[in-house]
Amino acid sequence: MALIVQKYGGTSVGSVERIQAVAKKVAATRDNGHKVVVVVSAMSGETNRLIALANDISEFPNPREMDVLLSTGEQVTIALLSIALHKLGCPACSYTGGQVRILTDNVHGKARILDIDDHSVNGDLAAGKVVVVAGFQGVDEHGNITTLGRGGSDTTAVAMAAALKANECQIFTDVDGVYTTDPRVEPRARKLDKITFEEMLEMASLGSKVLQIRSVEFAGKYNVPLRVLSSFEEGEGTLITFEEENMEDAKISGIAFSRDEAKLTIRGVPDQPGVAFSILGPVAGANIEVDMIVQNIGKDETTDFTFTVHRNDYHKALELLKESAEVLGAREVFGTKNIVKLSLVGVGMRSHAGIASTMFEALAKEGINIQVISTSEIKISVVVDEKYLELGVRALHDAFGLAGELNS
Ligand code: ASP
Ligand code: MG
Repeated sequence: MALIVQKYGGTSVGSVERIQAVAKKVAATRDNGHKVVVVVSAMSGETNRLIALANDISEFPNPREMDVLLSTGEQVTIALLSIALHKLGCPACSYTGGQVRILTDNVHGKARILDIDDHSVNGDLAAGKVVVVAGFQGVDEHGNITTLGRGGSDTTAVAMAAALKANECQIFTDVDGVYTTDPRVEPRARKLDKITFEEMLEMASLGSKVLQIRSVEFAGKYNVPLRVLSSFEEGEGTLITFEEENMEDAKISGIAFSRDEAKLTIRGVPDQPGVAFSILGPVAGANIEVDMIVQNIGKDETTDFTFTVHRNDYHKALELLKESAEVLGAREVFGTKNIVKLSLVGVGMRSHAGIASTMFEALAKEGINIQVISTSEIKISVVVDEKYLELGVRALHDAFGLAGELNS
């Protein structure tokens, strides 16, 4: 007998029929002899609908009241799912975050989980019941309702799994697993059977939006095996787990990309101590996250700097850079939003040489110019013109032999 936490997202519980289908899956898992805790999101569109209601009344609704409002979405689904389980003859009991006592800090709208009281839940599980928990919510030490940030039900599921020492946390969603790259860009993308937490974090932060990033961090930290599977199709999904010896054979797990990039350059700044700080200090001060940074070798006692930021921060960053340029007496400042970032991700990079050159060769063959390069232990990223996104992803996917059967 295993203890399994299953999480169903908004689409999976988007209608009464779908809730009934989820109830069948849950009941079947229990019938197979497992203890089951189910975490559910609000029905799809519900959280947005509630936010819109509040915004119809006020531009700046009070954060505490927003959490009281938004937590109701998940409260509806836990009750409906429990009713559907009862209808199937499966004993079940619903819990809001506060009823479990998922204790969080008091940062309304993006609260962090501090502690989970597993007492009542364990009691119900021991009595043979399915426990249905509202995702995305908790309470602070004074009993105020809090929410964990958009997509937070994933985090609730992982946190429940960690607290209960579950054997596996299964995230049911509308995709059937994690792919080598986005199948909309490369139809031959292949579903991965396994991926490490580290790789998943890189894939997720680079725009493969299968799981909330925070939930993956959490799962890695507390050693909770995570599995992503489809609510609508049978299959084993993708297991996100620890690095194993044989994972090294697959040098590259996937190609991630991000369209949300912009690039800025400042030329002809004095090549002396403190320049990087005077350029990037104001940017950081404005809460703009800088991603890739390159400084060129200086000539004539001046140097050039290029860095990338999120596209939304482009104008603000350009403004700040122009101010710094004036102070530093720089020659010119320019930037572009017409770029994308392509990244190879794989733990096998640690133990295999020559991966970067294979990557650069593949891009060169397609005539794709690389503008910026950065590397980490398990990732190599390049910035290229946005018109090369599809071509670049496919070229890399091919070069590293990631293609599977053509998906129909
Ligand atoms: N219902 C919340 C949202 O839409 C939480 C979740 O779905 O995970 O963000
Ligand atoms: Mg959701």
